[in-house]
Amino acid sequence: MAQDHYDVIVIGSGPGGGSLTARLAKTGKRILLLERGDYLPRSQANWDAKTVFVDGAYQAKETWYGGDGRAFSPALHYYVGGNSKVYGSALLRMRERDFEAVRHVDGISPAWPVSYAEFEPYYAEAERLFAVHGERGEDPTEPWSSGPYAHPPVSHEPRIQKLSEDWAREGLQPFHLPLGIKLEERNGKPTPTSTCIRCDAFDGFPCLLNGKADAQVMTVDPTLAAHSNVTLLVNATVTTLETDPAGKTVTAVNVTREGRDERYSADIVVVACGALSSALLLLRSANAAHPNGLANGSDQVGRNYMRHNMSVLMALSKEANDTVFQKTLALSDFYFASRDWEYPMGLIQMCAKTQPDQIRGEEFPEWTGFLPNAPFEMVARHSMDFWLQSEDLPHPDNRVSLGRDGRVILDIEQNNREAHDRLRAKLSDLLEPGGAYTYLFERSLYLGKNIPISGTAHQSGTLRFGADPAASVLDLTCKAHQLDNLYVTDASFFPSIGAVNPTLTIVANALRVAAHLEERLG
Ligand SMILES: Cc1cc2nc3c(=O)[nH]c(=O)nc-3n(C[C@H](O)[C@H](O)[C@H](O)COP(=O)(O)OP(=O)(O)OC[C@H]3O[C@@H](n4cnc5c(N)ncnc54)[C@H](O)[C@@H]3O)c2cc1C
Ligand code: SF4
Repeated sequence: MAQDHYDVIVIGSGPGGGSLTARLAKTGKRILLLERGDYLPRSQANWDAKTVFVDGAYQAKETWYGGDGRAFSPALHYYVGGNSKVYGSALLRMRERDFEAVRHVDGISPAWPVSYAEFEPYYAEAERLFAVHGERGEDPTEPWSSGPYAHPPVSHEPRIQKLSEDWAREGLQPFHLPLGIKLEERNGKPTPTSTCIRCDAFDGFPCLLNGKADAQVMTVDPTLAAHSNVTLLVNATVTTLETDPAGKTVTAVNVTREGRDERYSADIVVVACGALSSALLLLRSANAAHPNGLANGSDQVGRNYMRHNMSVLMALSKEANDTVFQKTLALSDFYFASRDWEYPMGLIQMCAKTQPDQIRGEEFPEWTGFLPNAPFEMVARHSMDFWLQSEDLPHPDNRVSLGRDGRVILDIEQNNREAHDRLRAKLSDLLEPGGAYTYLFERSLYLGKNIPISGTAHQSGTLRFGADPAASVLDLTCKAHQLDNLYVTDASFFPSIGAVNPTLTIVANALRVAAHLEERLG
């Protein structure tokens, strides 16, 4: 079979693969970007809550299995831009202390092998690349930075401004949530030329107007427009990687594209399929030199899977909440040890406003007793919505693996739950004093009906990086310890996950690896 040779092959066009490609494109090297999905079709259905959340129209049609053998559908999205096509675009830096060992109620969150200081310039570059809007100095746990955000924070609508002021009066430090968004505002309204119109379909919906700073819009599209040395192939699923007999170099990338088998090679191969799919690709690429999976001499491939302990909560109040674009506020007062508890709890952020079709699709036993006749529209109008996330700790038995029949198995034993339960209780207390918010409900549709197993949105940690080849898969440049030309730039390199959303760190690391490759390629 003919084999096209490139300088670099990048597998996966999400934030990790897209950002690396965008930076490396400027070297003029021949780069092939392979993406198993196609462009997400633009249509009005992009903004339809039933299509997105109830029907799961954009989610991959895959069946995986838990360790107990139960089938589930992972929340995966195979498109140009990857999962960022549907992400909520909250782009925060990990805290400086997240790079160090942090004591949690259930154990130690391990230190990263590189410091925040090494990441800082790449965080700054990542914030520019993804048009992050924010305000330095408001968030009490934010790490130091080399400069201000390039874009002002997204303004609060009156009801959220009031919540922010209520919390500040109670001695808390709410802040504007940093968001990657192509929004220009004047007096709280989008300008006539702003791409984003501040609609109610932020978070979980693909953006019909390309106003969300996702990897397709911010990295792939502009790179292809400006650099003829970059080629994108869509519907191109990488099935396996081959090595030389010694197992030191990846010599071929095998692809199935539109029913045909194809084969490519490159001096450098970068895997960025998302933390779960990247581990699976390496496991499927086992050969005589790597009998337990490519780069798996340490038996760490697929292990230490993390995904945050998360909840989406809907507070119902007597007063209507007419906010349209709700995702503008966050609270990190309980991120680390606080005067309430000696261990970290996590981060509270607003999320998009509940829509009537989402409520219709939820399974709330509570509804029958409370509001038996309430129309869903009325309930949605009175809701205020929060996303809570707490750190889960890496554990070798929390892992993705392949069954003997090739089926995908995801084993999870939840840990650090007490931190998350306390964070939920905190939010409940915070909403009490004014008496404005009476009920707090769990919303599960946003992240998958059964969040613990199918909530793969923040997947990370399956190929962690480290100095010790016996305890990690990747070295400090995210090159596989055992191979000379194989790199990984999605969230699988995370040794711990902190409690902030992962994507800005994925992008910053991809840019860091790209800087290393620029030097290597000369
Ligand atoms: C509903 C939702 C909301 C979220 N909200 C936020 C948020 O607010 N903030 C935040 O920071 N993060 C958020 N996330 C997480 C964020 O989307 C991910 O962290 C990010 O997309 C991961 O980037 P990645 O490049 O590692 O992987 P992905 O985005 O998963 O991209 C991997 C790409 O590789 C492709 N691929 C996979 N296997 C193959 C193969 N074998 N061959 C070829 N191509 C392949 C996939 O199709 C995909 O395009 C959210 C996620 C979801 C689902
Ligand atoms: S709020 Fe802006 S970015 Fe989000 S879906 Fe609406 S137009 Fe797109």
